[in-house]
Amino acid sequence: MTAANNTESLRREVRSWLEQSTPSGWREAMTGTDQESFVRLQRDWFGKLAAAGYATPHWPEGWPGGGRSLAEQKVIFEEVARADAPRLILFFVALYHAACTLLECGSAGQRDRYLPGILAGEIWCQGFSEPNAGSDLASLKTRAERRGDRYIINGQKTWSTMAQYADRCLLLARTDKSGPPQAGLTYLLLDMRAPGVTVRPISQITGDDEFAEIFFDDVEIPVEERVGDEGAGWAVAQATLASERGLTLVELSQRMRYSLPLIAAEMRATGRADDPATRRELGHLIARVDATCALADRYLLKRISGEEAPGDASIVKLYYARTLREFTSLGRRIAGLEGQYYRGFMRGATQETGNWTVDFMNSYNWSIAGGSDEIQRNIISERMLGMPREPRSWQLGSQR
Ligand SMILES: Cc1cc2nc3c(=O)[nH]c(=O)nc-3n(C[C@H](O)[C@H](O)[C@H](O)COP(=O)(O)OP(=O)(O)OC[C@H]3O[C@@H](n4cnc5c(N)ncnc54)[C@H](O)[C@@H]3O)c2cc1C
Repeated sequence: MTAANNTESLRREVRSWLEQSTPSGWREAMTGTDQESFVRLQRDWFGKLAAAGYATPHWPEGWPGGGRSLAEQKVIFEEVARADAPRLILFFVALYHAACTLLECGSAGQRDRYLPGILAGEIWCQGFSEPNAGSDLASLKTRAERRGDRYIINGQKTWSTMAQYADRCLLLARTDKSGPPQAGLTYLLLDMRAPGVTVRPISQITGDDEFAEIFFDDVEIPVEERVGDEGAGWAVAQATLASERGLTLVELSQRMRYSLPLIAAEMRATGRADDPATRRELGHLIARVDATCALADRYLLKRISGEEAPGDASIVKLYYARTLREFTSLGRRIAGLEGQYYRGFMRGATQETGNWTVDFMNSYNWSIAGGSDEIQRNIISERMLGMPREPRSWQLGSQR
C-alpha cells in the first residue's frame, strides 16, 4: 500500500470514529462559569481520544498511539478540526510541551515516571514567564538554590495556562546569577501539590480564567527532577517551546477554515448575504484562511524534511494571528450591535464560536502567547532577512 493510500484509509477510519465519538453538547459544557463540567468534558474526551490512539500520534513507536508519520498526524488533526470536536485545552501542555521535552531531553527514569501519567490524564502547566520576564525570558528571577539533593524554589510565575488544574509544572528557574542570563537557568519538574506552592487564577476581561499566577515559598524539588544539567535549562526550554510549533498551527488553521460558515450564517442572519461589499470581505478572508492553511502545511513539510530555517515558525504564527484577528473582527462587524453583546464565554479561550466580541478579544491571545507579534517580527527581520539587530540600548537579554 502506498503512503497516500495509508493516509486516506486512516482519514476514513478517523472520520468514522469521530462521527460516533465526538461528544454532543460539548460547547454548552465548556461555556460559562461551571468549571466542573468543563473539566469533566475535557477528561472524558481525552480518555476517549487516548484509548483510540488519537491523542498521542506524535509520540514515538512503542507508546500507545505513537509512531505515526507526520502526514498521518496531520490527517488526525485535520479530521478533529473538521468534526468540530473539542480541543484538548487541559491536556495540551502535558501531551506536547511536557511529553516532547521529556522525550527529547529527559532521562530514562523521568520518561518512565511521567509519560504513563500523562497518558492516564495528568495535567501539566508551563512555568516560564514572570511579571518582568516574558519576551525577555532569560531575565527571569525565580531562584532554585541547591541544598544537598534538593533545590529550594522561591519566586513567582505568571500567565501559566491551566495551572489551577495542573498536577505538575515545567519550571524554569535561576541557579546562577553571575554569568550571562541564559547560562544560569535550570529546568525542573515540579509537583504542584508540593508544600509552598500557591496558585492564583487570573481573571480575564472575557470572564474566563485561562491562566494563573504561581507563587513558590521554599518549595523543595529533588535533584532527580532536573531535566538536563544544572545551568543548561535554556536549551531544554527551547525544546519545550519548539514542541508545539507546526502541528498546532495546522490544527488551528484548519479549525478556522471549518469555521468560515459561521461568518456566512451571520451574513444571512443580518440580511447581508447578497451585499457585494460584505461578500468581497468574505472572499478576501477565505483567501487569507487558505493562505494560512497553506503556510502551516508548508512549514510542517519543511520540518519533516529537516529544512526548517530560522524565522519559518514565526511567519506562520504571525500570519495565523493576523488572520484570526480579521476573521473575528469581520464576524463582529457583520453582526453589528448584536455582535457587541457579551454572551458569556467558552472556557479555554476558544476563538471561533460566533460569540463575536469574546472571539475577537480571544484572538489577541495569539499575538502574545508563545512570543508576541513584535518578537516574531524581530526574529524574521534579524535571523531570516539578515537585517541589523536592535540598537544595543533596546536589546533585551533574550527573545523567545
Ligand atoms: C493566552 C496566553 C497563554 C500563555 N501561556 C503561558 C504559559 O502557559 N506559560 C508561560 O510561561 N507563559 C505563558 N504566557 C505568557 C507569554 O509567553 C508572554 O505573555 C509573552 O512572552 C509576552 O511577555 P509579556 O507578557 O511579559 O510582555 P512583554 O515582554 O512585557 O512585552 C510587552 C510589549 O512589548 C513588546 N516588546 C517586548 N520586547 C520587545 C522587543 N525587544 N522589541 C519590540 N517589542 C518588544 C511586546 O511585543 C509587547 O507588545 C501566555 C500568554 C498568553 C497571552
